[in-house]
Amino acid sequence: MDRHLSLTGLEEKRDALVARTLRWWVRARRSLAWRAAPGTAPDPYRVWLSEVLLQQTTAQAAAPYFQAFVEAWPTVEDLAAAPLEAVISAFAGLGYYSRARNLHACARAISARGGRFPTDEASLRALPGVGAYTAAAIAAIAFDRQAAPVDGNIARILARLMALETPIAASRSTIAGAARSLAPPARAGDFAQALMDIGATVCRPQKPDCGSCPLKPDCAAFRSGAPEAFPRKAAARPRPRRAGAVFFAHRGDGAFLARRRPPKGLLASTVELPGTAWTGDGPGAAFADAAPVAARWRRLPGAVEQVFTHFSLSLSVYAAPYEGGAPDRHFWVMREAVGEAGFSNVMRKAVAHAIRGAAFRHGGDVIVS
Ligand code: SF4
Repeated sequence: MDRHLSLTGLEEKRDALVARTLRWWVRARRSLAWRAAPGTAPDPYRVWLSEVLLQQTTAQAAAPYFQAFVEAWPTVEDLAAAPLEAVISAFAGLGYYSRARNLHACARAISARGGRFPTDEASLRALPGVGAYTAAAIAAIAFDRQAAPVDGNIARILARLMALETPIAASRSTIAGAARSLAPPARAGDFAQALMDIGATVCRPQKPDCGSCPLKPDCAAFRSGAPEAFPRKAAARPRPRRAGAVFFAHRGDGAFLARRRPPKGLLASTVELPGTAWTGDGPGAAFADAAPVAARWRRLPGAVEQVFTHFSLSLSVYAAPYEGGAPDRHFWVMREAVGEAGFSNVMRKAVAHAIRGAAFRHGGDVIVS
């Protein structure tokens, strides 16, 4: 497609592209648990829930979460009535926990409206945790509004259609304008879902299958002969490293000490092993002050590594047997309950590392006592 002109000016061309894409979708659409069967009305609750669960993950990874959510809470009112901790636990492993809190807050807001979602983008955006993309996706898919959601997959497709020479991060308004120009007045939801499916199955980041793509006749990246060279990449910035230490105080019956993180900030409200702050300098000598109780701490071999969006983390793990009481703001978690306790991914890894290491309780040096 010849840059913006063809996306904004030529309605006929747009209509042909949309019609081809919708025909392709009839035969190639993915069957996803949250999608309404062809010819049936979508359930806004399932549309909203799926879009929140799908943020920053794949349909395959989100599917079991979606299933668990709709089984536990079949309606938005059920979800609104659930305890926040249960929602955070069900969300664990899907990334940023502020999203679980917003999901719950949004369910409550909808429940307070009698269970009815607003149907226009502006009102949807006013809901907790609903950004521009999610509002457009719900408006288009659940309410057939002429809206143009742009997620990472759709941005890639549009950058390729126009063979944009600037990276996606620097082309957001061009891409959003192109998406709006393409969104058809009818069946905008089907068109958006068709683009999502093209992004997931055809116009993949690597090795796009241009031969099966309904957008090929309009695609400038395809015509260039090197579609994979688009979108252009931004220069990579090095990811800073942080380090910290966590403490695994374990009882003879298999319980260990844990605490909950603050309700705001990284991994908000998730359960964690007590430990130091995560800093660029690492815990240093001050780490002993962060031990939750006085015990014969020994450092376990190895470390737990985790990559976050803005930094990578290395956690040392200290373990000690401890039979005293839980200090303030700490509580006991049984080993077999780790899956349901609301730990983040990194803390699950730290607990697994600690359990493995603490099994050799007579080895290693005593570091703090
Ligand atoms: Fe992507 Fe190729 Fe389709 Fe262009 S023709 S949108 S590069 S799959």
